[in-house]
Amino acid sequence: MDDLYKEIILDHYRHPRNRGVVDDPDVAARGHNPLCGDQLELSLRVQDNLIADVKVIGKGCSISQASASMMTERVKGRPISEVRAVISTFKEMLLEDREMSDEDYESLGDLESLEGVKGYPVRIKCALLAWNTLLEALDMVERRARNEDLADGHLPEGEEAVRG
Ligand code: ZN
Repeated sequence: MDDLYKEIILDHYRHPRNRGVVDDPDVAARGHNPLCGDQLELSLRVQDNLIADVKVIGKGCSISQASASMMTERVKGRPISEVRAVISTFKEMLLEDREMSDEDYESLGDLESLEGVKGYPVRIKCALLAWNTLLEALDMVERRARNEDLADGHLPEGEEAVRG
């Protein structure tokens, strides 16, 4: 791996950003990568369709912990729609043979430093752990919002009533 990239990864590993548990979280999710022993606990607060706050506690290899730290920096304060797009771009970078554009790299920021992981299939799971955990948390938030809508008597957007 590129030395500069290595340094970015080690910096995040040694000084993880947004470490801890969010005050009054809307959702918490746990991630575990048994292949390597990586563990993460992610908590987040959502406000007006933004990730108002996000924090992670974790242990494991440098790739998994650095990826989690970079993830929190990238998504904190950002709209959920943008966050979902970043998750897709990051996964495409690691899992697909798609040529990344300048816009993709710009959108990924420090996360670009994890592109070299692509050459090490076992490590890809380490790099993706924080992102899959985040996806699970976002799905929980959205599922809950939908259920609250239904409880209020509203139909979820794009869905029609089916009556027997
Ligand atoms: Zn790992």
